[in-house]
Amino acid sequence: MIDLTELTIKDAARLLRLGSVSAADLVTAHVERIERLDRHVKAFLRFTPELWERQAEEADRKLRAGDAGPLTGIPMAVKDVLCVRGVETTAGSQILRGFKPPYTGTAVSRLFEAGALMLGVTNCDEFALGSSTENSGYFPTHNPWDVDRVPGGSSGGSAAAVAAGEAIFALGTDTGGSIRQPAALCGVVGMKPTYGRVSRYGLIAFASSLDQIGPFTRSVDDAALVLSVMAGNDPLDATSSERSGGEVLNNYGAGVKGMRLGVPREYYDVQGIEPGVKAAIDQAIKVLRDQGAEIVDVSLPHTDYGLAAYYIIAPAECSSNLARFDGVRYGMSEVDAPNITEAYMRTRRKGFGAEVRRRVMLGTYALSSGYYDAYYLKAQKVRTLIKRDFDQAFERCDAVISATSPTVAFPLGAKTQDPLSMYLCDVLTLGGNLAGLPGISVPCGMSEGLPVGLQVLGPQWGENLVLRVARAYEQASGVKAEVASFA
Ligand code: GLN
Repeated sequence: MIDLTELTIKDAARLLRLGSVSAADLVTAHVERIERLDRHVKAFLRFTPELWERQAEEADRKLRAGDAGPLTGIPMAVKDVLCVRGVETTAGSQILRGFKPPYTGTAVSRLFEAGALMLGVTNCDEFALGSSTENSGYFPTHNPWDVDRVPGGSSGGSAAAVAAGEAIFALGTDTGGSIRQPAALCGVVGMKPTYGRVSRYGLIAFASSLDQIGPFTRSVDDAALVLSVMAGNDPLDATSSERSGGEVLNNYGAGVKGMRLGVPREYYDVQGIEPGVKAAIDQAIKVLRDQGAEIVDVSLPHTDYGLAAYYIIAPAECSSNLARFDGVRYGMSEVDAPNITEAYMRTRRKGFGAEVRRRVMLGTYALSSGYYDAYYLKAQKVRTLIKRDFDQAFERCDAVISATSPTVAFPLGAKTQDPLSMYLCDVLTLGGNLAGLPGISVPCGMSEGLPVGLQVLGPQWGENLVLRVARAYEQASGVKAEVASFA
């Protein structure tokens, strides 16, 4: 018997078209699984039966009429930072409790138009600040491979939902690694597009020059499909590119024969990389070489400064984006105060968690007059150098490969008292955000019984190259994103 909660989009779509299962069957199977497992995983913050019932009915009608789109009847989960009309959306924060957006963001509405069904809203670090989902204003999510460990973050709920068989695919956002890192730690595929590829309209902003929306899936083909549906110009986001969404699929099945793949030495030997992670990456490099790729040594000399620059730029943008949460316009409101300033302060003190307050303070400081040149401007200059490092690397190779995360999933609580060690989780991913590049994490084996991710980064607008490498690796290695065995 086929387990309907372990399918890829591609396989589920085939069964739906054959008529051997209905969208309603898929939903029922997922809801049953969620009822059985989610109290251990805690991937979801809330469920959306009002949506899935109507959407499944419509999907089944379309399937019967032979009028199905690429995602018709496929159940998905959506990170709590993406606005969906009428669905409580809180960015993992108490300050937005009760907020129901009056509109649906572009990425989600394109998926709805393509027929996807929404099961619910997934947990995340508050305003996507974090690498473990422990900064959620509600509760931490647990890694389905070992429920005493973190799923990664900030999109940990989405990664865990796909890894636990609680959704066929999910949406996340990636500002410094928040799709790729949890994908790696949960053993699923996660992709961050080129900055500007997917509209950010309807995404609750963290750092607007870095944020991108992307998919979590069980295969590279599925990631390519979901991305191609979401991508493409949107007049509602001024940074959205004119390029067509379909472009990401160009020739991505062609294999790596003749491609040059760069191994950045600063990433390969990054501080703190676990031996088991390194061994899995070595094995992946071998698989790609055996497939006919030429492996070249490249350098990203400013890697050491990336983390520092990111943790100036991201908090600076965060402090400015989060200024709108004042208790007057959205969500929580502590207006019972002697004056308006005190009302703002009480609302923000009560509504924001410790990490949000830390970032707002860091960011406000870095942007303040007198410190702006020393910190913010300096960080922007480093950002340019990092971009240039990648430009130079891509003169010598078509894509670069590395581990996604230096470590496998760590125990819950292991890094919560030490923000710097938490920040180090993204040392291999945040360069891609600073430079605006597309990147993917694909499962590449296990270390200490936990999943390891292989990261592929490509040049700007080179999603098709990134997908091509990831797909060639997936096919040749036989390593597939599996539903976690505890489930
Ligand atoms: N962990 C990084 C941070 O906390 C990245 C988060 C993200 O990509 N949203 O900023």
